[in-house]
Amino acid sequence: MTDDRTDDSTGGATDGRLALDADTPIDDAVRIVEGWVADHVPGAWRDAAERGGAAAIRDVRTRDDYERWYPVFGRSGLVAPMWTVAYGGLGVAGPQARAIDSVLAPFNLGRLNPLGLNLAAPALFAHGTEDQRRRYLPPIVRNEEIWCQLFSEPGAGSDLASLATRAERDGDEWIVTGQKVWTTWAHLADFGVLLARTDPGVTKRKGITYFLVDLHQAGVEVRPLPHITGEIDFNEVYLDGARVPDGQRVGEVGDGWRVANATLSGERQMVSGSGSGGVDRIGGSGTERLIRRARETARWDDPVVRQELMRVHSEERIRGWTNQRVRAGLKAGRPPGPEGSIGKVHQGDLNQRIQLLATDLLGPAATAWESDATTYTDSLPYEVKGMLRSRANTIEGGTTEVNKNIVAERVLGLPREPDPWHDAPWRDVPRG
Ligand SMILES: Cc1cc2nc3c(=O)[nH]c(=O)nc-3n(C[C@H](O)[C@H](O)[C@H](O)COP(=O)(O)OP(=O)(O)OC[C@H]3O[C@@H](n4cnc5c(N)ncnc54)[C@H](O)[C@@H]3O)c2cc1C
Repeated sequence: MTDDRTDDSTGGATDGRLALDADTPIDDAVRIVEGWVADHVPGAWRDAAERGGAAAIRDVRTRDDYERWYPVFGRSGLVAPMWTVAYGGLGVAGPQARAIDSVLAPFNLGRLNPLGLNLAAPALFAHGTEDQRRRYLPPIVRNEEIWCQLFSEPGAGSDLASLATRAERDGDEWIVTGQKVWTTWAHLADFGVLLARTDPGVTKRKGITYFLVDLHQAGVEVRPLPHITGEIDFNEVYLDGARVPDGQRVGEVGDGWRVANATLSGERQMVSGSGSGGVDRIGGSGTERLIRRARETARWDDPVVRQELMRVHSEERIRGWTNQRVRAGLKAGRPPGPEGSIGKVHQGDLNQRIQLLATDLLGPAATAWESDATTYTDSLPYEVKGMLRSRANTIEGGTTEVNKNIVAERVLGLPREPDPWHDAPWRDVPRG
């Protein structure tokens, strides 16, 4: 299946990396990337893209195929083209990046390792040392080290700053003890970004420090939690004397809340679809597919169904344009703002409505089906699975209610939520 040729006749690549930079004229950039596509994207995927877009590509490309091929993409520098070469990118500027995006778009080359790209990387860019960036960013780009996010705890989700996992200094290392929960892909990950309390004697946001934790060590135990569909995506993670070298601390001791905000902002953009990791929807597929399915069945003749389809289709287009605007702002170097929260609130609700409609289009087949699959998970119709997964969209990455609070306080300037414990040391605040 794969077409993993490393010789390059189009762009003068070094070790698979394309010879592009901020000075490359746009026409040359387009020609080089088109040449790379012709040489390195497997012919069956290219033919499918021309025949029927993303849906046709899915028919000829399995997830395994894609993961096996991905190192070619990772080495090319095209995964994060605006990052410098030392960080695994190409160091191109906005105009070249946009040209690259438009050449690659038809081939649906999603970025793997989205938690590394969208959650760990923003913290490293904003607060990491140069050594940390050079060490951790290139393997993120190449999907060689998978990342997860060790923030939420049983008693600290929306009120994340009340977290209780402790990190205590021991010479050049920190010893970490506590429990994390809902940790997406911890069972697959090599590293996690972790928030831990280093000083219980100050207010809750001040005593937190941000670390990069190697998950392959004795003090870390990962216990999978099945979703409603039976799939394993997230986990409980028990830290019992896990060791973290001080060189894997990001930012100052006690300044982890500020560092965490870079990660949380990246996460909101990822979940709203405006991030750079290619995650435009978590659960199910988009309205184009729904419209195709409705046309293939008698449901298209129902004016009420058509009206619903057009309503979500229009909203999806508007969401897409808004996300493009946010992405353009980020690429132009503007800091992420509260629009991440606005997008997160809208996208979570919109995707749930889209996936409910997809399930509704199945009619009675959404509630009873025949299948040769041996597990419940594998037997679920695609639409039902997407609809069930989308229920988490208004929780993951911060709940809709909490994001509305952020919009109220930071966009509309409304008064902050009252917090009687605002100035109290963390150790004195009552916890459930
Ligand atoms: C699919 C999925 C993947 C996840 N992946 C990760 C991950 O990889 N890493 C990680 O660290 N976490 C992860 N999470 C956790 C997620 O960030 C939390 O679930 C979320 O922040 C909510 O926290 P909680 O579940 O503790 O709910 P709670 O905070 O207990 O909230 C319960 C309810 O109270 C409401 N509420 C709470 N406070 C307020 C308030 N101030 N105003 C109004 N309403 C309020 C909430 O909106 C919610 O409806 C994931 C969650 C899901 C569903």
